[in-house]
Amino acid sequence: MNGSPITANDFRNQRVLAVFAHPDDETWAAGGLLRRVASTGGIVHLVTLSHGERGFDHVARRRDGALAEARYREIANACARLGVASFEVLGLPDMGVTAVATKAGLAPILAAFEPDVLVGFDRDGGYGHIDHVLGVLGTFAAVSEFDRPPRLIAPVFPPGLLTPLRDWLARHHRHLVHPDVRSGPLGGESATFTLELTCDEATAKRRALLCHASQLDRGGVDGFLGIGVMASLFHCERYREVVLDAGDAAALEIQVAVSEQRPA
Ligand SMILES: [Zn+2]
Repeated sequence: MNGSPITANDFRNQRVLAVFAHPDDETWAAGGLLRRVASTGGIVHLVTLSHGERGFDHVARRRDGALAEARYREIANACARLGVASFEVLGLPDMGVTAVATKAGLAPILAAFEPDVLVGFDRDGGYGHIDHVLGVLGTFAAVSEFDRPPRLIAPVFPPGLLTPLRDWLARHHRHLVHPDVRSGPLGGESATFTLELTCDEATAKRRALLCHASQLDRGGVDGFLGIGVMASLFHCERYREVVLDAGDAAALEIQVAVSEQRPA
């Protein structure tokens, strides 16, 4: 790959580091791309920031250690479906991911894996979840200080697709939505490239999401994140290349300055 705009065909034989906050994010947000990379000679290493031990468990109402263990197994199974070669969980607290801890955890992984491309959420964290947004900030910080920085790509979701989810979270669990993303538009029209999922990729993505059984309510995969959301994302994924700017560094400084206090 060179400096030209990245396309869906540019992932052959690439080393791709996927970084997402919780188990299941890698699948619903980027499962098709991860499968594409794996099936075209590339290598995917997944880093999940948190075990997601504070999430609701639709299977057995487990919490903390028991849910963390269950979700670790769920990621392992999902990775097998997607062809992800290896994964690790940083073990940051669920609902307590910080930019600084993310940056510290990722730095040695970047040095060891030396990715060509890093895929993770964009600055809005997809739907504003505070772990997503602060994880992205920490990821950007780690990349900007790495001497062989990978290209950064982020999924772009259709405008409005995730807005009902964000608005519901902001109403009922306000602290879980980053203040910068509590209102305003989500998603976008413009993308650097579009990945039309093949039958194999769509099937792998669906099966991988089924592996995250603890997160599926009675609506199953088709009701995941809200009715109709996955219908779009099982069909096509869109991505944009992210270019870091001074605002990212400033945003990280603010996070450090508040001593990693969660915004109220
Ligand atoms: Zn998440």
